[in-house]
Amino acid sequence: MAFELPALPYAKDALAPHISANTFDFHHGKHHKAYVDNMNKMIDGTPHADKSLDEIIVAAWTDKNAGLFNNSAQVWNHTFFWNSMTPGGGGAPTGDLADRINSAFGSLDGFKDAFKQAGITQFGSGWAWLVLDNGDLKVTKTPNAELPLTGGQIALLTCDVWEHAYYLDYQNRRPDFLQTYLDHLVNWEFAAANLAKALA
Ligand code: ZN
Repeated sequence: MAFELPALPYAKDALAPHISANTFDFHHGKHHKAYVDNMNKMIDGTPHADKSLDEIIVAAWTDKNAGLFNNSAQVWNHTFFWNSMTPGGGGAPTGDLADRINSAFGSLDGFKDAFKQAGITQFGSGWAWLVLDNGDLKVTKTPNAELPLTGGQIALLTCDVWEHAYYLDYQNRRPDFLQTYLDHLVNWEFAAANLAKALA
């Protein structure tokens, strides 16, 4: 069965001025949609057609099927990225997630520094992540379409650092985009829900 482009979890102008509706028109309406369309073409009439998205990603990674891996992982990454942000986001996490961030990074600022550094130092295209790895919180980065799933880690949050994520609003200022993501957009409730699900 063909996959559909998931709707954004908020209106395309809901994160303005931090991320413009124009960016969402391209990033969600063109880039994310192209990954969905490409993946559908690649799985049509194959045994992958009946698999879940996670199953397709893992099978493509294991089979070293780069085309299918890149498109299916980018479908997953972008849906996860939209949900990693929320209108009026930023602020501070609470509860178990806050305790774990303080213990892993010293403070919320310590986490922000590590996450921003991961995003800045990802050479070329890729992603910055907060993950649960064997029970510990870690900040990681991945190139291109790669994601925590194939390394056995559980994603809690991500920020897209492909140029297409920020170029229209920030031009080449990736550090400013990451700082804005952390201060105004990050969806701590989504991260806390992912943590709770992983620990359940
Ligand atoms: Zn993107």
